[in-house]
Amino acid sequence: MTEEIRSQAEQLKELLVRSSPLIEEYTAMVCPECSDVCCRQKHGTFREADRIYLGALGIEIPPSDPERTPEGPCQFMGPTGCVRPRWLRPFKCTWYFCEPLLAALNEGPQKKARQLSAALQEMVDCIYQLEEKVRKGEESEIAVK
Ligand code: SF4
Ligand code: SF4
Repeated sequence: MTEEIRSQAEQLKELLVRSSPLIEEYTAMVCPECSDVCCRQKHGTFREADRIYLGALGIEIPPSDPERTPEGPCQFMGPTGCVRPRWLRPFKCTWYFCEPLLAALNEGPQKKARQLSAALQEMVDCIYQLEEKVRKGEESEIAVK
């Protein structure tokens, strides 16, 4: 693990931490009224990009509860919402904007919506750069071997 990869992952963590209160302004408005909560076990699953990011920070991925069905409630769902801070959740949990959430963004102050959209784009770029750095690192390791 190079210092460059770790620092890219730290940058992504910082972005997730910084954007979370803004995202929560919208979820706090919309989610309490929801009758079909999206936090299902299949959505709380860590994927390749999540593994790269958390691995670069030296954080272990929690094992998936084998007793849960993919459509059932996510294992990280607590009585008042997700028990994991955003920067430790799968990226999908941050990317997903259901229709009511999108409507809240469209109907609310546009400056705030643009700010959130810019932060999400910055995260996507950051993940892409992280994946690229990891890929290049793997290629140069293979070349040395
Ligand atoms: S994000 Fe949308 S689908 Fe998920 S709990 Fe909130 S309102 Fe419901
Ligand atoms: S936000 Fe938390 S509870 Fe919801 S799917 Fe993601 S990890 Fe699970």
